[in-house]
Amino acid sequence: MKKLMIILCVTSIALLAVSFVSIKKAPHVLVYSKTMGFHHASIPAGIAAIQKLGLENNFKVDTTTDASYFSPETLKKYDAVIFLNTTGNVLDDAQQAVFEKYIQSGKGFVGVHAATDTEYDWPWYNQLVGAYFKSHPRQQDAVLTITDPTHLSTKHLPATWKRYDEWYNFKSIQPGLNVLITIDEKSYTGGENGETHPMAWYHDFDGGRAFYTEFGHTDESYKDPFYLQHLLGGIQYAITQ
Ligand SMILES: [Zn+2]
Repeated sequence: MKKLMIILCVTSIALLAVSFVSIKKAPHVLVYSKTMGFHHASIPAGIAAIQKLGLENNFKVDTTTDASYFSPETLKKYDAVIFLNTTGNVLDDAQQAVFEKYIQSGKGFVGVHAATDTEYDWPWYNQLVGAYFKSHPRQQDAVLTITDPTHLSTKHLPATWKRYDEWYNFKSIQPGLNVLITIDEKSYTGGENGETHPMAWYHDFDGGRAFYTEFGHTDESYKDPFYLQHLLGGIQYAITQ
C-alpha cells in the first residue's frame, strides 16, 4: 500500500510538471510592414529572416500589411509588434489609440530601419520609436561602436563593427533612450548627428518595451549572422515581460 501511494505521488507530480510545461505558450510576434511612403525592396528578405529566427528560437511569427490587425481583439494575441521598414501614415487615429493601449498593457515594440520614417504626426510614436528619420547619404561602409555590450542585441558583436548599409541621420531624438550602438561619423561621409550619433537603442516606455535598430535597408543585412543575432536580441528583449 505504501509503495502504491509513493507511485501515485510520483505520477501526479510528473503529470503536474508536464501540464506546467504545456501551459507555457511560445511567444507570438506580429511583423507589420505597411508602407505609405518609400517601399524597401528588402521587406520580403526581412520577413523571411524573422520567420526563420522564430522557428529556430521558439517564437511564433505572423506578418501583415493590413492595419485592421490593430484592433484590441487581434493585437492581444501578440507579445510584441515589429514595424519592419514601415513608412508614412500606417495607422489611423483609432488604430493608434489601440496600439497605445497595447503598449501600456506591458507589451513590446521593435522598430527596424524605416520604422523611424513612419507616423511623423503622432508624438507618442516619436517617443516610442525614439527618433525620426531626417536624411541619409549614399549607402556605404561605416564603423559602428558598441556602447553597451551587455544587452541581448549586442553582446555577440565586436567592439567596433564595420558594415555596409544606409545610414540615417535623425531628428526629434528622444531623451531617456538606452543607446546600444553609435556610428563613427569619421568613418563615412554624410553623418549629421555628431559624436554620439545613435544607431540602436532600447527603453522601457509607457508600461511596455521598445527596441529600435537603424540597420536593415539592404537584402544582405538579412543574411548577416551578426545582424540577425542583433535583431533576434531586440525581439527577445521586446517579448520578455
Ligand atoms: Zn532605407
